Amino acid sequence: ELHKLDGLRDLPAITRDGTGITLRANIGLVSDVDVALRNGASGVGLYRTEFPYMARGDFPDRQDQYRLYRKVVEGFAGQPITIRTLDIGGDKVLPYFAPPAEDNPFMGWRSVRVSLDNPDIFSTQIEAILMAGIHGPVKMLFPMISSIEEVKACRAVVSQAKQTLSEEGIPFAENMPLGVMIEVPATIHIAHQLAELVDFFALGTNDLVQYLLAADRNNPLVNKYYDPLHPAVLQAIRCICEVAAEHDKGLCLCGEMATDPLNLLALVGLGLREFSMPAPFIPRTKAFLRDLDLPTAENAADKVLKLGDSIAIRSHLIDILHTTQ
Ligand code: PEP
Ligand code: MG
Repeated sequence: ELHKLDGLRDLPAITRDGTGITLRANIGLVSDVDVALRNGASGVGLYRTEFPYMARGDFPDRQDQYRLYRKVVEGFAGQPITIRTLDIGGDKVLPYFAPPAEDNPFMGWRSVRVSLDNPDIFSTQIEAILMAGIHGPVKMLFPMISSIEEVKACRAVVSQAKQTLSEEGIPFAENMPLGVMIEVPATIHIAHQLAELVDFFALGTNDLVQYLLAADRNNPLVNKYYDPLHPAVLQAIRCICEVAAEHDKGLCLCGEMATDPLNLLALVGLGLREFSMPAPFIPRTKAFLRDLDLPTAENAADKVLKLGDSIAIRSHLIDILHTTQ
């Protein structure tokens, strides 16, 4: 079995009828680069930069961050890397940057909200990412966006960072694509307007599911409420797929949801063609996709979108899997 998966590394990720699907890696540490390469990842769909920040005693300076990002970019030798700006808060706390006590940290001062309130930290990171962009195709991703105003504020920091680097005579990527995470439900409803302001979307189902269903992703007591196949989740995903296609914007799903074949069947049927996941899941995902028939997945998605409860959705998907695989 393992041997079989090993042999898949250099085979393309295509469905049985030839539709290409891109499989990228989620990474956090530089050591994840090797794991991603060994598993045949097509670059990185999500580089969670908070991990290097967490493993230290203080904020890394621009040069430290640049060196780290450059190492990742060069490790992938020309494959695209999406670097996400700091996503601390919620459950990710830096030992040297304690947030104030909050009743609801996941709905509190986290992620891009922290960055926008700390312009020095934010612009330092953005400058480092822009600098790393001269070594390969880097995209910059902003997490936990909930409004157009935030995107405009992020873009303003990027413009200022470019200005700073120009004045210092430091080379950087002039035309780096900028994207936003779709993980706060509000972004689904303003997706058309967002599409006017960004180059790509990254669909963060880990948070999207928890916020849509008001079920903490880390609380075992509400585990049964945290349901990626809830009809509201599937409707939201369908909606963002349509908006991305209409505006010709890239859309990569980078939540854990895609690591489950049942979910993947629905997701490919809903229109997703790009996934980013922990690299060890890539070979088995590729094997699954190579056996999958696209019209079957599309029919399954059309059918489950009409169902109102996830028990029916799940059992329909299970039926399809069993009859086709
Ligand atoms: C997500 O929310 O789905 C996501 C990919 O980001 P994180 O798990 O880091 O919040
Ligand atoms: Mg998230």
